[in-house]
Amino acid sequence: MKLTPSLTTIVTMLSLASASQAANVGSPFYGDAPDEHHPWAVHDPNRPQPPVITPGTPSTQDQPGKPPSDAVVLFDGGDLSKWEADNDKNEPTKWVVRNGAMECVPGSGYIRTKDKFGDIQLHVEWAAPTKVEGESQGRGNSGVFLMGMLEIQVLDNYNNPTYSDGTAGAAYGIMPPFVNALRPPGQFQSYDIIFRRPIYKDGVALDPGYVTVIENGVVVQDHTMLEGPGGHMGRSKIGPFPEVGPLKFQDHGNPVRYRNVWIRPLPKRAVEGATDGYLSTQATDAKRHEIAAMIRQDAEKLKSAANTVPYMLRLAESCVYEADETVLNQLKDLGTAYVDNLKQLPADKLAARKDEVRHIRDVCNYLVRFKVIEADSEVERDLKQIIADNNWDKKNR
Ligand code: MG
Repeated sequence: MKLTPSLTTIVTMLSLASASQAANVGSPFYGDAPDEHHPWAVHDPNRPQPPVITPGTPSTQDQPGKPPSDAVVLFDGGDLSKWEADNDKNEPTKWVVRNGAMECVPGSGYIRTKDKFGDIQLHVEWAAPTKVEGESQGRGNSGVFLMGMLEIQVLDNYNNPTYSDGTAGAAYGIMPPFVNALRPPGQFQSYDIIFRRPIYKDGVALDPGYVTVIENGVVVQDHTMLEGPGGHMGRSKIGPFPEVGPLKFQDHGNPVRYRNVWIRPLPKRAVEGATDGYLSTQATDAKRHEIAAMIRQDAEKLKSAANTVPYMLRLAESCVYEADETVLNQLKDLGTAYVDNLKQLPADKLAARKDEVRHIRDVCNYLVRFKVIEADSEVERDLKQIIADNNWDKKNR
């Protein structure tokens, strides 16, 4: 096979990026290769880019901030169309909207979202009544019920102590907040909550679930393990949650207000089929097979006489994920033809290929290092010989 890379091809080669990777930053054959628990290489240019979103803006006491662009907004100061009464009758809630906040009407019952959610990032701001009434659990009490089950306590604990596992920011009845970072009553307080429900399979906990709570910018729960839904007086028991549930706010007899309520569903975890991160060997194999197939499919677009070097490299790249014997044999043939072609080039034409040849030698080294190919192959030996004969590894050349 004759290989005649065009100038454009060589330029592309020098940037170490094939046409299909132009949008990616970074190079293949660079960081440590995929292994039995990681389907991606370190600094892998094939790894998907994180979706771009626009971040939100912070709130002030007078003005709620803007949610991030990918948030599901549950209440923006307008109406309660996403909410309903927490009963079996599909009734509208009796909570009211006043001055841009939704307010609990004591005695009307909990309010819940019409939609149901599983793992979420939740942002919510709440304010206890300015007029201080009652004490302990009786002052400015409400609650954020994640999936309608676990209560993150909402309570006016500003100069108002109560049992610690019922303090604002507590996983109620389970875990007190690390600190009490509350503002005075009447002011808005913010909760940013990261909630991961328990995941069970055949009665076995694959992941117990966790909750993290940031109160007014201060961490008060850090990856606190879920021990069931918590609750009043009774010891909560570890166990499964449903897949999804509504977000609820509590009516505890106080006109607590809420504003700027939004959520962002969180990505799956490895135990429920995520394909990134530290995976089981089985999940890693499956993902590596998928990536290799994607790269091989992509390589076909480069399969023309002018693009043989990028084609060869893209195929080699696929073998980093899955060392397929047929593809390895194909690579061996391509490499042999490549070297045969180099050997026939006049000195000036060969010199013009210096960086390309050295790069392919480096790729061989990488593939040997990660046991994709055997060391000391004929192609590798020939490349090293050409480089040595021309003193191409000398500095300042
Ligand atoms: Mg409460």
